[in-house]
Amino acid sequence: MADIYIPDRDRYTKMPYQRCGRSGLKLPLISLGIWHNFGDNSDFGVQAQMLRTAFDLGITHFDAANNYGPPPWSAEINLGKHLKNDFSAHRDELLISTKAGYFGWEGPYGDWGSRKYLMASLDRSLKNLGLDYVDIFYHHRASDDDPIEETMGALADIVRQGKALYVGISNYNPVQAVKAEAELNKHHMHCLICQPRYSMLYRNPEKAGLFETLDELGIGSISYSPLERGMLTSKYLSGKFDKPLTDQQQAQLKIAVQLNEIAKTRGQSLSQMALCYNLRKVTSVLIGASRPEQITENAGALKNLAFEEEELAVIENLIG
Ligand code: NDP
Repeated sequence: MADIYIPDRDRYTKMPYQRCGRSGLKLPLISLGIWHNFGDNSDFGVQAQMLRTAFDLGITHFDAANNYGPPPWSAEINLGKHLKNDFSAHRDELLISTKAGYFGWEGPYGDWGSRKYLMASLDRSLKNLGLDYVDIFYHHRASDDDPIEETMGALADIVRQGKALYVGISNYNPVQAVKAEAELNKHHMHCLICQPRYSMLYRNPEKAGLFETLDELGIGSISYSPLERGMLTSKYLSGKFDKPLTDQQQAQLKIAVQLNEIAKTRGQSLSQMALCYNLRKVTSVLIGASRPEQITENAGALKNLAFEEEELAVIENLIG
């Protein structure tokens, strides 16, 4: 007999939801991405358990992109199957996002930011996901070559066509974000959200003033790789690795070991503290996982979100 998923009735008591910029949309403080561990090389049953675990914890937002796999596109196709199998009665409770902007297919129309690429890619994504619309469609990276007027015009038309409810930008710096918002405004549209890479060990967006700019523009934010792809978890703390660490990873690990000691004093794991640190700046943290237990552990971050001034001073001294 098929395994029928019945979501936890208490799921909405477990997760705070935060307004995304000045929009009407609230995001869960923790969101789940499918960049890794949802391609055809990963166990489909484990994928299902991760999505179920997330939803049971009140994680209502799943983030995809056209190129996620491997192979590219397969993570979207797998997510589509899971949505059909487990979440078809819950579509209105979910935020599904996808993106285009990195390599999608060969030739001049399968990359960067042309209207041709974005429109065609989203059509493929919707087929893959088995959805009529996504909640958020992102331009995945800023393009120096393509006119921002065209890229943002395409996003505005995508919303008008009903294929996305909101649009966002990813990997845009503050200047590019200002330009994107100005272009969308010409179409009486607003950029919902910006998705930068941001972690305790990668603070470039913070140092560049991205979060202040987004606040001024009323744009929300969701940080990707908030656990620095596992460096800010127990994964490397054991000292056992599948392959030798790079020089940069070795330097990061030294800091992670010290951060872990601070996390212990807060009664948290390193990953939990890393997420709390991010949430001082962003609307939602976008985690990845390979096992359901990781998601459960990470959601434990919500029990102790606040930092003492002295704690922050010690942390900032360490991470620079
Ligand atoms: P993280 O920094 O959260 O790293 C996730 C990895 O950390 C997991 O795959 C797992 O590694 C490890 N991990 C997580 N929790 C734990 C835990 N509690 N204990 C031990 N290990 C843990 O994020 P990702 O880099 O995976 O990115 C998250 C999402 O962000 C993506 O899925 C995607 O949606 C988005 N993203 C967006 C990009 C963009 O350009 N817009 C680029 C990159 C990501 P392991 O698998 O080895 O177990």
